[in-house]
Amino acid sequence: MSSQHNEPDDKSALQDEIRYINLYESADKIYTRRITGFYQKLRRYTGIPIMLGFLLMPWFVIDARPAMLFDLPERQFHILWMTFWPQDGQLLAFLLMIAAFALFTVTVLVGRVWCGFTCPQTVWTLMFIWVEHVCQGDRNKRIKLDGQSWNAEKLARMGATHFLWLLISVVTALTFVGYFVPVRQLIVGLVSLDLGLATLFWLGLFTLATYLNAGWLREQVCKYMCPYARFQSVMYDKDTLSVTYDSKRGESRGPRKASEDYKAEGKGDCIDCSWCVQVCPVDIDIRDGIQYECIDCGLCVDACNSVMDKVGYERGLIRFTTEDELETGQTRVLRPRLIGYMVALLVMIGCFVYTIGSRIPVDVDVTRDRGARMYRIRGDEVQNVYTIKINNMDRFSHTYNVRLEGALDYKLKGYRALEIEKGEIFTIPIRVSVKHAELKKLKNDIDIIVTARDDESISVRLSNVFIGPR
Ligand code: SF4
Ligand code: SF4
Repeated sequence: MSSQHNEPDDKSALQDEIRYINLYESADKIYTRRITGFYQKLRRYTGIPIMLGFLLMPWFVIDARPAMLFDLPERQFHILWMTFWPQDGQLLAFLLMIAAFALFTVTVLVGRVWCGFTCPQTVWTLMFIWVEHVCQGDRNKRIKLDGQSWNAEKLARMGATHFLWLLISVVTALTFVGYFVPVRQLIVGLVSLDLGLATLFWLGLFTLATYLNAGWLREQVCKYMCPYARFQSVMYDKDTLSVTYDSKRGESRGPRKASEDYKAEGKGDCIDCSWCVQVCPVDIDIRDGIQYECIDCGLCVDACNSVMDKVGYERGLIRFTTEDELETGQTRVLRPRLIGYMVALLVMIGCFVYTIGSRIPVDVDVTRDRGARMYRIRGDEVQNVYTIKINNMDRFSHTYNVRLEGALDYKLKGYRALEIEKGEIFTIPIRVSVKHAELKKLKNDIDIIVTARDDESISVRLSNVFIGPR
């Protein structure tokens, strides 16, 4: 009954809460205010190593090849001292699962810090905004410049901005493609105008993607395109650390005179200066509560702290905190959901390390020759023919021995051990013979063992059958 009685009020309250969004509405350009502070520096000092790592990695050389090269035509993936093949697909699966569970664990613990501090979209946008700031000035100057009609100054400033954006985009594209084509070869090809169409296509595409994503789309990518933004909210709980406005302390907000006793007038610590909104790269007001657009970059924390310093109030009106901490003054770090993700992460890391540790860098395939007759009789011997394919997946060349094991006294014929270069595949037919008198049945088990001569740990045993006469 009471709910029926309250229905009109509830409806109007609900209407107030609902925000209507036109999905086809063009987004207003965001002019972020430049701010300095702890989180701004943290972003810079996490972004710079990520960027340098990305830019420099293709230039490092290990064993006369790039330290990181995804060689698609050769179907080899060189990562530091290791070379992986399509057969190592389960390692890639483990790696993806590790990345996913690491992201889940970090999100439950500290919210979207991945987005705010380390995501390439954030790092590159930060760099593009910095270029904008250098070429066009701070927020007010940029708003003014955009509003004024075209003249020599605007042309020069805008031209410089877009030139530098494009330069960064080209370097980014060259580096990215340099993970798939040796980067030195790529640069030589570019300088001598001798690049294939496919390479030029990918260079153009990644240049355009970087220029558009970091220069124009920016927060739209985080808000509307990134799938992580869509499902991260289900990982949040009351003890997840995230950027939060302390409304108990801040409200009611409003300007005040320095001399007035604002608390006596019922005002909180928020002076409603809007700095927290002006610095926000996704253009939200954190005072409206936690929102899915927030990337936990902490810039509003820096902005508000600097305002608090100016007016002489305690810092932390906006801070990294948890819902529980705000409500009860306490927060739990270890909780079932977090423990679950951590256990899953550790299991995945364990599987990955075990698979890497037990990985044998040779792939062997043995097939009984179906094209030939089931068996041949040569004097008092019966022979079967097999094809052995040895894929040397190691970083060094090896010569492989072939041994036979089974209940019968098998003899190997026609195998001549040759050195197989790293990354090379070698296919050779072999003949296996056994005394006719020994054969008692049609199908006989046989094990074929392939072992590197210089390293017995590189060894593969495969079971097959030896066919005899009926
Ligand atoms: S920066 Fe701080 S004081 Fe200024 S509007 Fe935001 S919350 Fe209020
Ligand atoms: S609300 Fe604050 S933490 Fe969230 S994106 Fe905006 S500036 Fe960053």
